[in-house]
Amino acid sequence: MSRIFISYRRQDSEGYVGRLYDHLAQHFAHDDIFMDVDSIKPGADFVKILEDAVAGCDVLIAMIGPQWTAITDQAGNRRLDHENDFVRIEIASALKQGKLVIPALVGQARMPTSAELPADLVALARRNAIELSHQRFAYDVDKLIHVIKDTVTATPSLKPRIDTDTMRRKEAALKVVRNDLVNATTSPLYQLRIDSRSFPVVGDGSPDASIMFIGESPGKNEAIQGKPFIGPSGEILDEMLKGINLKREDVYITNVLLDCPHEKRDPLPEEIAFYTPFVDRIIDIIQPAVIVPLGRFAMQYILKKLDLPEKRETISQLHGKLIKTKIQYGEIHVVPLYHPAVVLYSASQKETLRKDFEKLKLFI
Ligand code: URA
Repeated sequence: MSRIFISYRRQDSEGYVGRLYDHLAQHFAHDDIFMDVDSIKPGADFVKILEDAVAGCDVLIAMIGPQWTAITDQAGNRRLDHENDFVRIEIASALKQGKLVIPALVGQARMPTSAELPADLVALARRNAIELSHQRFAYDVDKLIHVIKDTVTATPSLKPRIDTDTMRRKEAALKVVRNDLVNATTSPLYQLRIDSRSFPVVGDGSPDASIMFIGESPGKNEAIQGKPFIGPSGEILDEMLKGINLKREDVYITNVLLDCPHEKRDPLPEEIAFYTPFVDRIIDIIQPAVIVPLGRFAMQYILKKLDLPEKRETISQLHGKLIKTKIQYGEIHVVPLYHPAVVLYSASQKETLRKDFEKLKLFI
């Protein structure tokens, strides 16, 4: 879904629109920024096409330059007065659909008064505008980005929650989970763990992270070191995180199985049943605002746990989608992604994974 629609007049603000797009693309997935409606085929109902495009967005940015109100067609008639004017249709349908409409003033333009606007745009005059000045462009766009993120995610808990007491409490609670696992002699993988002198792998990263990744199961080396994702899949995960300016320390990473199965195979239902109550506890401790299941096993566990309608869908249908839902501590987003190991089997999947990771920029 395209989340941000930029409405603009080429003659009026083209020089600014590219700059705005480049800044937004550092914070949002390219696919989530919608700028130019694809060529509309002859005979197509362009009002419907534009309305549908706007309907898929959460926010419409109306770029208003110095000529925006006055610009005329070749016959000398004001564009805004045409019922078929694309810009008018875009903004009118966003206002009608109750979308957040943010006028962005560029080139020292002033906000049009209601008297200058056609009836279906009068409400625009009451929208608080943001000025994108040439000299302070990056600073002004940052303010705009904050407003958009708050609207799109509506998840105030995404802000860093740096509080030493909370951090200590979470670290201590995670240690309790680890101890319980160490002593869980009934675990289906307990004997393998003892024989291989390895450890349970609870997780890695910040106990106070907003974004939590859940993979499948640790490998042998990971179980010996007690750290998830440090093998070839981990290299891909690190690369993907780096691509969106995140480090491991910024997120929390765990798995559906917290011990290594010591075989290259899918997790068994009884293993998932045994370990996921521990994963539930880890989620309750971390309280992430975004849960990112990596691969189908983590995805199925989360969708079933939260009893989401998408639970019957496959990872190929849901990868990269944002699912907004509630968990006992508040509102969260679930963003299923392919497991990083897909890239090891099919290099062409790297681009898909990279694009899907971009969706997480929304929460950073
Ligand atoms: N390492 C992990 O910790 N989890 C996976 O799913 C794969 C590798």
